Amino acid sequence: MDDLFKKLIAHSKEYGFIFPSSEIYDGLSAVYDYGQNGVELKNNIKKYWWDSMVLLHENIVGIDSAIFMHPDIWEASGHVGAFKDPLIDNKNSKKRYRADDLIEDYIEKLEAKIEKEISKAAKKFGDQFEEQKFRETNPRILANQKKIDKINERFVKAINNNDLVEIRQIIIDCEIADPVSGSREWTDVRQFNLMFDTKLGSVNEEANSIYLRPETAQGIFVNFLNVQKSGRMRIPFGIAQIGKVFRNEIVARQFIFRMREFEQMEMQFFIKPGEELKWFDYWKDKRMKWYKALVSDTSKLRFHDHDKLAHYANAATDIEFKYPIGFKEVEGIHSRTDFDLSQHQKFSGKKLQFYDPDTKESYTPYVVETSIGLDRMFLLILSNAYSEEKAPNAEGKLEDRVVLKIPAILAPVKLAVLPLVRKDGLPEKAHQIMDELKYEFNCQYEEKDSIGRRYRRQDAIGTPYCITVDHQTSMDDTVTIRYRDSMKQDRIPVSKVREIISEKVSYRNILKEIS
Ligand code: ATP
Repeated sequence: MDDLFKKLIAHSKEYGFIFPSSEIYDGLSAVYDYGQNGVELKNNIKKYWWDSMVLLHENIVGIDSAIFMHPDIWEASGHVGAFKDPLIDNKNSKKRYRADDLIEDYIEKLEAKIEKEISKAAKKFGDQFEEQKFRETNPRILANQKKIDKINERFVKAINNNDLVEIRQIIIDCEIADPVSGSREWTDVRQFNLMFDTKLGSVNEEANSIYLRPETAQGIFVNFLNVQKSGRMRIPFGIAQIGKVFRNEIVARQFIFRMREFEQMEMQFFIKPGEELKWFDYWKDKRMKWYKALVSDTSKLRFHDHDKLAHYANAATDIEFKYPIGFKEVEGIHSRTDFDLSQHQKFSGKKLQFYDPDTKESYTPYVVETSIGLDRMFLLILSNAYSEEKAPNAEGKLEDRVVLKIPAILAPVKLAVLPLVRKDGLPEKAHQIMDELKYEFNCQYEEKDSIGRRYRRQDAIGTPYCITVDHQTSMDDTVTIRYRDSMKQDRIPVSKVREIISEKVSYRNILKEIS
């Protein structure tokens, strides 16, 4: 695991962002709890997503459907039959892997070789470099590309035909080794359903088996008509939802990147058949803007278009972020045709159509969905924010500081109010300032330790502003405001604090930027 990733995990625990679940009982694998700062950051991310959907689009509304749903829903959606991952065990290390991940990682390595070749040549030839031509003629690139295409072709076919023997054969043919032990002794590939089930009802023998939902989307599809009719919605329109989901992941050892209980923020956009590619592009663009408003180094974000599409999808892409463990999916955008509504129509026997009053025709709408994992977004923000720097202490000597440069609108605590000393009426004045601001911002009062140490603690949780109350405050009603990222300090009147901070932490500005 990358060093930075380990540091993030340790930092998250030390500063109240994320704790391993049930820690005093030695934990529960791939389940995590959010601490006092984590929950604030998580709520702020939810608000940014929710407002960007529901406030910025007149034709998008939200719902909150139950986690338990009728078991037939999961038959209709295809999850009972097909929500499976192919798993494979290494006989020597006894480690379990997703067979598709092993193959995809292998392909990624070949792609990385090609990219390395290209960047080497680009450096060598400077302005004269023609990338396309180089790709088409360089023998090493051509050989690797041919390998990739061939594996991809076999892999897509094997997945679509559910051919587990062939999936294993690809692993053998590519000489893929266990990343931990280097061993190539693989078991057969088996399918593993990712849904958790439980019993509904009080008497066990009579109880019905139901599933914990593995995605929030189905709660939207089965409420399509309820929302459309009660909200008098007209196509195109969207339904957004945030909620917990559960997947019994085979391999879950990447902190909050892959959990067994996590949260999704999903929006299903219902459209006229035939318009799906237009809306697919529209949502790709909108969603990427949403990320770019938070991540200034945009080279850390990219699309990854799918080669292998689910049988019902006619376009799909992932938004990937460069985590400390490499470029990985944070969100999926899928054009799902009318698959879901048609399936629910078939299984429930209820008509799920839209009557268009203009054309006087009824049809089953198509759907473009955007589906983001809240916890992966949380990890994106943390990874992007974590920074180790040198900062001067009170004597002007440089010392280490760890700072989370979380965008101010998402920061768990917006403002720390710090009396310079614990006497002379300074604590009372600081409390007075907090009492004025606490209705709008999450503020924190701290009086213990030197001011430098208090700044360090606020840096470590990402507080963008610190206000220091000192003796001058009692004379002229001014305070110093210290900015987290630049560490600059300004003297400002107490009466100005609210205005300055409001401007910086308001969702209004960021929403305007992306709308
Ligand atoms: P992956 O290929 O990584 O398993 P997926 O393609 O199965 O993900 P989707 O079913 O499209 O994921 O789910 C939508 C989003 O939910 C993903 O983009 C991701 O952000 C999030 N997500 C999926 N599985 C997990 C998990 N086990 N833990 C945390 N977030 C997850």
